[in-house]
Amino acid sequence: MLIRVSDIQDDGLTVDDPTALGAPYSDPAWRLEGVRLHLECDQADVLVTGEIRATVPQICGRCLEPFPAAVRAAVDVRVVPRPTTGDSVELAADDLDVDFYEKDELNLATLVETETALALPMKPLCREGCLGLCPVCGGNRNQVACACRPAAPDPRLAALRDLATRLPR
Ligand SMILES: [Zn+2]
Ligand SMILES: [Zn+2]
Repeated sequence: MLIRVSDIQDDGLTVDDPTALGAPYSDPAWRLEGVRLHLECDQADVLVTGEIRATVPQICGRCLEPFPAAVRAAVDVRVVPRPTTGDSVELAADDLDVDFYEKDELNLATLVETETALALPMKPLCREGCLGLCPVCGGNRNQVACACRPAAPDPRLAALRDLATRLPR
């Protein structure tokens, strides 16, 4: 979805229909569930604020099972005209997120994809309190209750402990 920056009125532009964005994700497995974005001009810049909700397939960091992660991205981006080569962009300290637009065209779909990717969990978990894999048999402890004992203590440590009990006090 391309937005003409010159079309953005003084009171801004709101996009709250996910279908208006077409297919923002290059990976068809990612699903856009909802958007509520507000675009507002600040001189030549466009401030985009709001929220994106999406479902993105992830692999659980503990049990290694794939699962659909519900992603919620808070958007607060300043989109500035792409500088012509040689120019450098002066960024204010409070502008954490900066994106570019070119020739009066702001690609909102690309922005949605970038912001969704940034909001992906660093350590995805399929569920709160996922039990993970058994370190002994490798079984998924969410699915099977294996009877493995926790790993035996290191025999060298046991020998030291044995020695310690025999030392005179
Ligand atoms: Zn898991
Ligand atoms: Zn096991």
